[in-house]
Amino acid sequence: MSIESTSSARTPVRLYDSLTRSTRELFPGADGRFGMYVCGPTVYGPAHIGNFLTFLRFDVLYRLLRTAGYHPFYVRNITDVDDKTIERSQAEGRSLGEFTAAWTERFQADCASLNLLPPDAEPRATDHIDEQIALIRRLEEKGHAYKASDGSVYYRVGSFPEYGKLSHFDPGMLRQQERNSAGTRNLADEYDRDTVADFALWKARKASDGPVAWDSPWGPGRPGWHLECSAMSMKYLGGSFALHGGGEDLCFPHHENEIAQSEAATGRPFAQHWMHAVHLLVEGKKMSKSEGNFFILEDLTAKGFHPAAIRLALLGGHYRQQFNFTLNGLEAAASALGKMESAVEDLLQRAGKERADWPAYVRAVPPPDWGAFKDAWSAIRNDLNTPAVLGALHTAFRSLRKEADAAGIEASLAAAGAILYILGIELFARPGGEPSPAEIPAAIAEKAATRWEAKKARNFAEADRLRDELGQEGWQVIDHAGGYELQPTETDA
Ligand SMILES: [Zn+2]
Repeated sequence: MSIESTSSARTPVRLYDSLTRSTRELFPGADGRFGMYVCGPTVYGPAHIGNFLTFLRFDVLYRLLRTAGYHPFYVRNITDVDDKTIERSQAEGRSLGEFTAAWTERFQADCASLNLLPPDAEPRATDHIDEQIALIRRLEEKGHAYKASDGSVYYRVGSFPEYGKLSHFDPGMLRQQERNSAGTRNLADEYDRDTVADFALWKARKASDGPVAWDSPWGPGRPGWHLECSAMSMKYLGGSFALHGGGEDLCFPHHENEIAQSEAATGRPFAQHWMHAVHLLVEGKKMSKSEGNFFILEDLTAKGFHPAAIRLALLGGHYRQQFNFTLNGLEAAASALGKMESAVEDLLQRAGKERADWPAYVRAVPPPDWGAFKDAWSAIRNDLNTPAVLGALHTAFRSLRKEADAAGIEASLAAAGAILYILGIELFARPGGEPSPAEIPAAIAEKAATRWEAKKARNFAEADRLRDELGQEGWQVIDHAGGYELQPTETDA
């Protein structure tokens, strides 16, 4: 007799895997737990909106896996020692520990504002120096690491034939690699390395490091950046786990180096699945301070946007496509959030409930019946398609305007609550003084629904005619992958 029968229910989630370049079903490890490791922030200043978009992607995945019965265990590290943290703490005359603790706290506070769930473990690199030294020793014993005359220890890339398998990179190209992981130029004669491709596992202390150094079998110094993720994922998830992720820029060299370190040490596959989130554009351009499109969370809240609206705006793009984040899009998201709130409030009222009852529905628990939210549930499990989920949500809320049966409304609230838990969209969190969005008159909603049916039936002439009519009546129709949205054409004062 099996005792675990009730906990084994799992609904499959499919996700693109960068390693095999295919969309595959996710599987938990042999222990029934889904170990996921995401490369976290380097804490030397406030994280920008692009950083948060990456962490938001993984937060949605984590919430989805919880809801789908995967029992995820989420580890996201804090990089609290590197060239930047050392330089900036010195410039401010603060100790490295004091400096990085303050920025870690700020990062966590911003995450909480954006309703990112805290990971199950958030290990710091400097708390795991012993584990990192032990890993270097293991690599040294197996012939994958060597000490150079400057006292640093390097990974011998040539000793790991599979190097390049994640980024599909030709190792021969590595000799021409211009920049290293710290973003500084690789000069072949700068270090005493066998080849330019070899990367540092242990960095011998330099005068510019000041007091930042730890004792090691190779002399005082500090670990190289790539090493911490191998050492800490081994400690918290074992040598082989379900999923590893990060921003797309980390694929090479960081994740490639993590694989080389980990698999050479353990002889086992490192992560079963790799997820990389594509970075955003802001107002159509790469974010930069000189372009004036560099936003930290505080810049956006100072403009009057609530973090819930910022979160909703960021979910408007797919994680594998470049998303263009704009202030106009943010305003549209604020309005869409209001419409979601009206739709849920309407359901609550018809169920004889009020706003205060809503949080009880927002749970990582699948409802008995997804009903009108079936398409949303399917879209999120198919490669985390958040724009399709938002379209499907809109369609679902619209169809529920006609739902009259009390049991049906109750089931719909449970299904809506589960989807909004996964998206992490908090309703009714904004201060009451905010303007509520324009109500859509029933005749307009009806006409838009007729147009959508015509479009689905490929009767495009009729669909266009109804779109024009709606336009004349002051309503713009915006189509999404799985539905549409109505917005008043006049701009609000
Ligand atoms: Zn990492």
